[in-house]
Amino acid sequence: MLHVYTGLGKGKTTAALGLALRAIGWRKKVLFVQLFKGRETGEKIMLEYLASQGFPISYIQAGTRHFISLEKPKPEEIEIVRRGIKQAFIKIKTFRPDIVVFDEINVALMYNVIDLRHAFELIDECKKMNAEIVFTGRYAPREIIDVADLVTEMVKVKHYFDKGIRARRGIEY
Ligand code: ATP
Ligand code: MG
Repeated sequence: MLHVYTGLGKGKTTAALGLALRAIGWRKKVLFVQLFKGRETGEKIMLEYLASQGFPISYIQAGTRHFISLEKPKPEEIEIVRRGIKQAFIKIKTFRPDIVVFDEINVALMYNVIDLRHAFELIDECKKMNAEIVFTGRYAPREIIDVADLVTEMVKVKHYFDKGIRARRGIEY
């Protein structure tokens, strides 16, 4: 099944991580691809720790930012994200995950960092292996929503960002 977690409210990446955690508990193989975030995140520390303890997790980080914001990606960043996607493609074939998360891929599609065509290739590759797929990020493109099996929109009723509270360690990253 293809899940899409989108919208302007908080909880998209958190939901994907919750799903991954649940699957890991059952020793399902999880490939977690985190785009745009390039620095240390709590999830990176924890997923890498679990992998070191023998849980079947593969984590790929491809980004330069500390957290996702709304600005247009810079050329250097575009290159890194594209490389991350290529790496993910190879990993899907070799690691054969049960679940694949592409965190913030919707943002990459919105800014044309990744072609829709490539996203569909990724989806096909995962489907061939019977893997569950998760796409997160604001602004999921129509074309992806159309082919998804589950779409959840996080609605921003309130967000403390609007009163100047920036990303906090352990809460946002
Ligand atoms: P979480 O990772 O907590 O589940 P999310 O994945 O739903 O959140 P993203 O769209 O990835 O949310 O955005 C995360 C970052 O964007 C947060 O660190 C937050 O500080 C920042 N942010 C939130 N609202 C805005 C806004 N209106 N403008 C710019 N940045 C924002
Ligand atoms: Mg996110």
